[in-house]
Amino acid sequence: MPHAVSLLRAARLARSSKPFLARGGFKRDRCEGCRLALTHCMCSLRPSVPTRAGVCLLMADVEPLKPSNTGWLIADMVADTFAFGWARTETDPALLELLKDPQWQAYVVFPGEFVAPERVVRSVPLWDAGETQTAKRPLFILLDGTWSEARKMFRKSPYLDQLPVLSLELAQISQYKLRRSRRDDHFCTSEVASLCLSLAGEELAAQTLETYLDVFTHHYLQAKNQWPIAWDSAAHQRLGELAGQRTKA
Ligand SMILES: [Zn+2]
Repeated sequence: MPHAVSLLRAARLARSSKPFLARGGFKRDRCEGCRLALTHCMCSLRPSVPTRAGVCLLMADVEPLKPSNTGWLIADMVADTFAFGWARTETDPALLELLKDPQWQAYVVFPGEFVAPERVVRSVPLWDAGETQTAKRPLFILLDGTWSEARKMFRKSPYLDQLPVLSLELAQISQYKLRRSRRDDHFCTSEVASLCLSLAGEELAAQTLETYLDVFTHHYLQAKNQWPIAWDSAAHQRLGELAGQRTKA
């Protein structure tokens, strides 16, 4: 079944009068399941890790159309992924319903330095499988777009105003960057989701999503350059190991 981002993409495509041409995109046939060229399809690698946390993507207008959008990867793995196109003037009633659903504790993920301090939280309750699960499940709201789009979404969405803001800690971010040998400060959406899952104590899911991004990046770049896939790359092997840990657990 197509997931939330896939459905949003289809709806967005149906609304556009002219075909969307991805920058640097390739014109070969794309797989409907992973958006990659058929020769570089990665659908067989899609991980499934049950998570207690959910993810709600608020996507800037063209975001679902970009073949490089990584919200797609989140939706591949996290069963409870919701995706909504963002517009200042209209709000999908389904989004408002979701925010009212008592099973979720929603958090807007946004840098705390831009927010009144009393709204900012820096951690979420950890998932302890042994506990009776009466506590609410965390729902991470990710603003998926450029930084200026994300700021606009944050400021101009009154339904977000009452929610706590989860600010990722610098320490956590730099640890992540060290591990991934990242130099820049820009995190893609699936990386933010990995950090959130890790905060919620869902480490296997966090690492699987992180590795799945590496695999996607490989397939994406190889497709772009028309190079073959290295099916035994470090990322592919790691994804396989993580799947093994899941079956053992
Ligand atoms: Zn595919």
